[in-house]
Amino acid sequence: MIAPSRQAYVPFVSVENMLRLVLRLGVETVIRDLVAEIEADFRRWPLFDKTPRVASHSDIGVIELMPTSDGESYGFKYVNGHPSNTKQGLQTVTAFGLLADVATGYPVLLSEMTILTALRTAATSAMAAKWLAPAGATTMALIGNGAQAEFQALGFKAVCGVTEIRLYDIDPAATAKCARNLANQGLQVVSCKTPEEAILGAQIITTCTADKQYATILTDNMVGAGVHINAVGGDCPGKTELHKDILLRSSVFVEYPEQTRIEGEIQQMPADFAVTELWEVIAGQTKGRSDPREITLFDSVGFAIEDFSALRYIRSKLAETGLFTQLDMIADPDDPRDLFGMLLRAA
Ligand code: NAD
Repeated sequence: MIAPSRQAYVPFVSVENMLRLVLRLGVETVIRDLVAEIEADFRRWPLFDKTPRVASHSDIGVIELMPTSDGESYGFKYVNGHPSNTKQGLQTVTAFGLLADVATGYPVLLSEMTILTALRTAATSAMAAKWLAPAGATTMALIGNGAQAEFQALGFKAVCGVTEIRLYDIDPAATAKCARNLANQGLQVVSCKTPEEAILGAQIITTCTADKQYATILTDNMVGAGVHINAVGGDCPGKTELHKDILLRSSVFVEYPEQTRIEGEIQQMPADFAVTELWEVIAGQTKGRSDPREITLFDSVGFAIEDFSALRYIRSKLAETGLFTQLDMIADPDDPRDLFGMLLRAA
């Protein structure tokens, strides 16, 4: 290998090292830690650079870039969403991300983010429920039992004290996989044959399905007073999970309205449909749930700040765990203007 003239290596967290890191720390600990990181960043929400994600759509999926900065660090995630991928043995969602130093523009971390996205999505869902779900909620219906599902279940256990998970998926094999993975995780797991059976006795309903269409996973009559809905799967134009009448009866909480109005459940509603920004609840600027009979709905689409928080968390663990490799990805000649000389010296 040709050595660069100066060492400007970038720490890289591979899939293998991410798996080791999460196993070493424990899934529930990582999700709890991520909730703390995301909450801390949501409290300083106004100082972030924010933009709806940059999406490139095709008939069968989407590829997105999700950038943000707090003025000291800059981060972005590359993520796809292809619901038909699983038929070819590929995942619906894969991702990787990068953190950089704003002062120099040099990258300081490159990381896998497929696993990290599942963890941060579970953390964000559980964080929202911590502020919005009815007090003492112990039972959650989990509709859509694919890649995100177990992370969601463990997030609600670790952060909200959920003890019973009621599973439903149109594909019974997905439910069986989820039930198998959640066995021995300290949860009571009930596999259901219909969505109606899954929501029985649930104070929290999570929808986490993938279908590139306006689907109706929950109809209006399925949602009783006082329930908290965590709608994770509707996260793209033309892709929703809830009947719009549910939105009319709910207090709707969102991450970044400019993005959620394009991608979330509220794309079905007029542009001035009232929503509350979740960060305002967490920062104490407005109330979350104010009535035990209120239906609260977290219209989750996933926002760049959550990925930024997750990347910074992973970076903070590198020295302690050593679970990274150094990536030779920045050409950095001794004389910064002699890039061509670097090429000549390498011959
Ligand atoms: P996945 O393809 O692994 O799993 C989706 C599951 O939904 C499958 O098992 C499928 O059989 C099931 N399903 C589809 N239609 C259904 C229906 N009508 N009723 C019940 N089940 C149904 O996908 P995944 O990685 O688990 O992601 C799930 C969804 O969450 C995707 O739409 C993805 O884009 C979205 N997502 C959102 C965020 C966020 O931050 N909001 C983050 C990650 C993923």
